[in-house]
Amino acid sequence: MSKSNDIKALYEEFMMPVYSPEIVLSDGQGCKVRNPENATYYDFTSGIGVHNAGHCHPKVVKAIQAQAAVLGHCSNLFINAKQALLAQKLVKLGGPAFRGGKVFFCNSGGEANEAAIKLARKWGSPEGRYEIVTMRNSFHGRTLATLTATGQAWCQEGYDPLPVGFRYADYNDIESVRAALTDKTVAIMLEAVQGEGGVNPATGEFMKGVRELCDEKNLLMICDEVQCGMGRTGKWFGWQHSGAAPDLFTCAKALAGGVPMGALVGNAKCADVFTKSSHASTFGGNPLACAAALAVISVIEEEKLLEAAAKTGELLHAALEGFAEKYDQVLEVRGRGMMAGMVVEGSAAEVAALFRDYGLLVCTAGEHVVRFLPPLNLKESELEEAVEMMSDALEELYGDGGAE
Ligand SMILES: *Cc1c(COP(=O)(O)O)cnc(C)c1O
Repeated sequence: MSKSNDIKALYEEFMMPVYSPEIVLSDGQGCKVRNPENATYYDFTSGIGVHNAGHCHPKVVKAIQAQAAVLGHCSNLFINAKQALLAQKLVKLGGPAFRGGKVFFCNSGGEANEAAIKLARKWGSPEGRYEIVTMRNSFHGRTLATLTATGQAWCQEGYDPLPVGFRYADYNDIESVRAALTDKTVAIMLEAVQGEGGVNPATGEFMKGVRELCDEKNLLMICDEVQCGMGRTGKWFGWQHSGAAPDLFTCAKALAGGVPMGALVGNAKCADVFTKSSHASTFGGNPLACAAALAVISVIEEEKLLEAAAKTGELLHAALEGFAEKYDQVLEVRGRGMMAGMVVEGSAAEVAALFRDYGLLVCTAGEHVVRFLPPLNLKESELEEAVEMMSDALEELYGDGGAE
């Protein structure tokens, strides 16, 4: 059971076929991973935006090992110090708008958004308000409520009847959001940079417009920071680029460096909406996940990874822009920091498969967007090597430097 083909056969026999992975991975370090046959790849998926400090960062590994050896899990029947410290830290990272705020911990992005939806409904329930306006091309998770919040039909097919209470608006179009409001609306939910929906950044003007609309109509503004948070865009949270702060934001993916964890952070207005027994999670915020998250946050701080993400992100964007200039088939480059999307004319999956053959793993986001989520501590030399691979692959695919 050590060869890729044997493992793949077992996988295909026993795993429900919701994913379609091609390669087996056995280990990873920093921005690189290997398969059982020792083929090495640059990993610009980072486990889908999870390994912001790279695979197996020694400080994160050490924190997980140490915590597992003393108290891995104890449930929320008891207080664990790491949880309280992490909650304090997340509230602090939210900045002045979150002074007096509080946190609820869970285990995934979908669950964190589910918690945000429940909190908003509970907050609006005295007035009978429950509708949440979300954006087209958003992605908020796979629970029934969060896939309904997700403004994309493909992930809702076959799951009728969907929960009521969601309306959709166009991203970066404040008039569309205004038009979606009713007297039942309780919240507006959005990503500061849409991830799965194609790496679309919100404009600062749109974020501010949503904030103003929420203030005007007494609505909660919810930012889903599951993908664009934890330093990915060069700030702790994507909304911090805009100057508009939400009332609630959710984190997961990169939060605990690969240990499954989600968090809902609320400002002072939202801090005590959930009351005793009104929401809960068995695993949420267990000592193991909290120790991992505290280690991830201190690595980001100590190694100045926000600055690194901004700086290396610029180099990545510049390299991709170079491809857009060189090839007509590369239509556009979008994103922020270490979250980049390259829009291609044909199939993004075809480009990703070719990159893989050249030794670089990337994500896609929809039909036409190749998505790059490298670790924030990627070295310039590593980026250069990966760009070389992309360059060779695109040359093979799109011809000899000239668009025909
Ligand atoms: C991945 C993602 C989710 C869902 O997170 P899970 O941990 O897979 O449940 C929600 N929102 C956004 C923006 C995401 O990128």
